[in-house]
Amino acid sequence: MLKIKNLHASIEGKEILKGIDLEINPGEVHAIMGPNGSGKSTLSSVIAGREEYEMTDGEIIFENEDLAELDPEERAHKGIFLSFQYPVEIPGVSVTNFMKTAINAHRKANGLDDMPANEMLKLIREKSELLEIDRKFLSRSLNEGFSGGEKKRNEIFQMAMLEPKLSILDETDSGLDIDALRIVSNGVNKLRTENNAVLVITHYQRLLNYIVPDVVHVLIDGKIVKTGGKELAYELEERGYDWIKQEKAV
Ligand code: ADP
Ligand code: MG
Ligand code: MG
Repeated sequence: MLKIKNLHASIEGKEILKGIDLEINPGEVHAIMGPNGSGKSTLSSVIAGREEYEMTDGEIIFENEDLAELDPEERAHKGIFLSFQYPVEIPGVSVTNFMKTAINAHRKANGLDDMPANEMLKLIREKSELLEIDRKFLSRSLNEGFSGGEKKRNEIFQMAMLEPKLSILDETDSGLDIDALRIVSNGVNKLRTENNAVLVITHYQRLLNYIVPDVVHVLIDGKIVKTGGKELAYELEERGYDWIKQEKAV
């Protein structure tokens, strides 16, 4: 599904990613862990195509297509979802209306007509039940006065509605409280299929107790320095990151 080769990227002329190779197959959950400032958010932003970041070398192939020339919206329409993509508040636009607009924009970009209203309602009902989202929430204004947990719930709802092929969840270092953590992880787990894939980016091992990865990669100073199974996450929790740096230095 996703094949990243020798990816180098910089921001404001400073090289952050220094040769990343990563391959994700349908049905897999990969985690990227690493200390603060190692380039995790840069990697997710570059995959999503955010324009502040300059790709200076390498390629990102998604479903056999080179993403280099595609802007973030086009990548989203191809099925790449980056969480925290819409952190802005949009007063006056309800969760439901925002979702309708987003879905129809996706459909249009893929050559489809608007989803018929009854089908849309059915989809909204189905997904909100799956994620245990109540009716009242759906008519709230987008992100206006949302608590941390509600913001997360809204994001996972977006993900459920859009049915992306690849979801990238950048936890950010602010961390999630336990409620938000449950909301995110239950949602992600319920939405997993053998056709989609998830890339979880996190500083802490905690989230990976809930979303169990197939593969764990350690990113340090813009490079993937170690790859392993889920047990690697526990080892990092226990031992921190320094031993890997030392291992590499030897
Ligand atoms: P992580 O998500 O692993 O904490 P980031 O990808 O956010 O790391 O940041 C990697 C490095 O890039 C850090 O040294 C950070 O200071 C730098 N960086 C990130 N964003 C910017 C920016 N907008 N301008 C300049 N430097 C940045
Ligand atoms: Mg950071
Ligand atoms: Mg980050």
